[in-house]
Amino acid sequence: MFYFDYIEGRKVLKSDLLSDLEHFFTTRELCLFSKEEDMSANRKLVEDYFGVRMATNQPVHGVDIAKVEADKYFYEKTDALLVEKGAAYMNFGDCTPLVFSFSKGAMIAHAGWRGTAQSMAKVAVKRICDEYDIKPQDIKVAIGPAICGKCYDVGQDVYEALLATVNGAGQGFAQRDNKYFVDLKQINQRQLLECGVEQIDVCPYCTACGEKLFYSYRYEKTGYRHSAVVKV
Ligand SMILES: [Zn+2]
Repeated sequence: MFYFDYIEGRKVLKSDLLSDLEHFFTTRELCLFSKEEDMSANRKLVEDYFGVRMATNQPVHGVDIAKVEADKYFYEKTDALLVEKGAAYMNFGDCTPLVFSFSKGAMIAHAGWRGTAQSMAKVAVKRICDEYDIKPQDIKVAIGPAICGKCYDVGQDVYEALLATVNGAGQGFAQRDNKYFVDLKQINQRQLLECGVEQIDVCPYCTACGEKLFYSYRYEKTGYRHSAVVKV
């Protein structure tokens, strides 16, 4: 279950499934990145709270994974950060944040439709299992706030590319009024289940509809982002 907590009085979202891992998802009250405004004061607030500097990435809608190294804080052209020790944050504009927790560390991954079509979730699970010799059943995953299946209509080509990543239509896919709708949180959940991950927490919040807790790139054309943050 997702629940709200506060970092220095600012509202953030956490998953109780990941109680072993320091992590959170930002709301509008603690934005860490914007193309319109310098957010370094908020990042400093989090770094002071954790007591360590955070690494981040330049997303390119691929499935490359970078391992965070000591004294390196920026990772170009990568959509997942593997953290054995240290802290990292990753920014999202409606795309799906995946936070993996396992005995040896954590990973944040960026799964928009392109990443999901390339099965980012399955690539991440394989990397964690191969690198640390653990089983998918021992990985916990929180799927963070992202655009929901009612708000996200896509072209037929995108719909079919996503459909090819799971065993048949059903949860995560809908057609109405000659439009195609996908729910990336549910599709990522299905990908994880299909590769053996059993412990999954799916965030109920949409970045586009409902309470304005998050920024939505698609519906507001904003340069502000929401972020997933971990500290190991
Ligand atoms: Zn929605």
